[in-house]
Amino acid sequence: MRIKEFVKTFRPYKVLEGNYRIWLDKNENPFDLPLEIKEEIFKELKKVPFNRYPHITSMPLREAIAEFYGVSPKNVAVGNGGDELLNYLTRIFDGNYVVTTPPTFAMYNFYARLNGIPVVEVPLKRGFIIDGEKIAEKAQKACVVFIASPNNPTGNVQPREEILKVLDTGVPVVIDEAYAEFSEKSYIDLLDEYENLIILRTFSKAFGLAGIRAGYLLASESVVDALYRIKSPFSLNVLTMTAARVMLNHYDLVKQNINYIVKERERIYQEFKEYTYPSEANFLLMKLDAYEFLLERGIVVRKLDGLLKGHIRVTVGKKEENDELIKALKEFVENVGDI
Ligand SMILES: *Cc1c(COP(=O)(O)O)cnc(C)c1O
Repeated sequence: MRIKEFVKTFRPYKVLEGNYRIWLDKNENPFDLPLEIKEEIFKELKKVPFNRYPHITSMPLREAIAEFYGVSPKNVAVGNGGDELLNYLTRIFDGNYVVTTPPTFAMYNFYARLNGIPVVEVPLKRGFIIDGEKIAEKAQKACVVFIASPNNPTGNVQPREEILKVLDTGVPVVIDEAYAEFSEKSYIDLLDEYENLIILRTFSKAFGLAGIRAGYLLASESVVDALYRIKSPFSLNVLTMTAARVMLNHYDLVKQNINYIVKERERIYQEFKEYTYPSEANFLLMKLDAYEFLLERGIVVRKLDGLLKGHIRVTVGKKEENDELIKALKEFVENVGDI
C-alpha cells in the first residue's frame, strides 16, 4: 500500500493535550443550549425513525431555513457544517482557479488544494479591506471568489462598494457570513439582484451548535441545483437536522447570547485598544505575541502565522473567562511588552 505524496503535503490535525481551563481558540459560542431546549430536541428525536436514511436533499431543514429568511427552499442548500459546502463550491463552477483574499479563513485554500484547483491570492489592503478592482481583474478567469465578511481572523466587515465591484463581474462570489449575526451587516439583500452571489452561513457560531455540524447557503436556484447533483447523499443526519430546526425557533435566545457576546467583545476591546483591531464578529485580533504566555496560564487562544505572525485571535467567552483573559493579558503587556 502506498499513500499518495500529495496527501502527505497536508498536515495532520493537531489535538492540544493538557489541562487547559479556558478555550478561546475556535470562535465557539460560550453558551451551551439550556436543558429545556435540549429536551425539546430529544422529544422531537423520539418521533424520528433511526433505521431510515435521512431526507436525501434535507428538505425539512431547508424549508425551515427558507421560512426563517422568507425565501424559497430552492434557494437554500444545507451541509454538514459550512465546510462541506465550501468543498462543493470550489468544484461546481467553470474556471481556472479560485480567488481568496489573505489573511482569511484557511479552508478555502484547503478545499481548492484538495480538489486540485489552483488558488490566486489577492491580499487585503490597509484596514484588511478587500481590493475590489484587483479581485474583479482576476475574476475574469476564476471559477469562484471567496470573501469572508466579517473576515476571519481580522473581524472586519467588507465595504459594500468593494463587494459590488466583484459582484458586477458576474463571476460566482461566495460571501462567507459565518459571523454576520454578530455584526449589523449582511449582503443577503443583494441576492435578488445578483444571480452569482452565494451567501454562506453556519449554525456553529451565533446559534451555538458547533458540535452538531450544520451550515447552509442562500443562492440562486441554479447554484443549489448544481450542488445537490454532486453532494454526498446523506451527509446531513437526522440528529443534526432536528437540532438545527428546533434552534431556528429560538432566535430570541440566540439574539440574547449575541448581545452578551458583543458587549463583552467591546469590553475587551476597550481594555486593549492599542493592541486590538475593531471587530464585528465574536473574536478579536490582537497584535500581541501572547500565545505561549496565555497557554501557561491555562488559556487557549489561536496563534496566527504568515501575514499575521506575532498576532493572536481571541474568541469572546463568558464574562468570567474574559476577566481572566484580561487579567493575564494585562500582566503580559506590563511585563513582556508587545512586539
Ligand atoms: C466557522 C466558520 C465557518 C463554518 O464552520 P462550520 O462549523 O463548518 O459550519 C465558515 N467560515 C468561516 C470564516 C468560519 O470561521
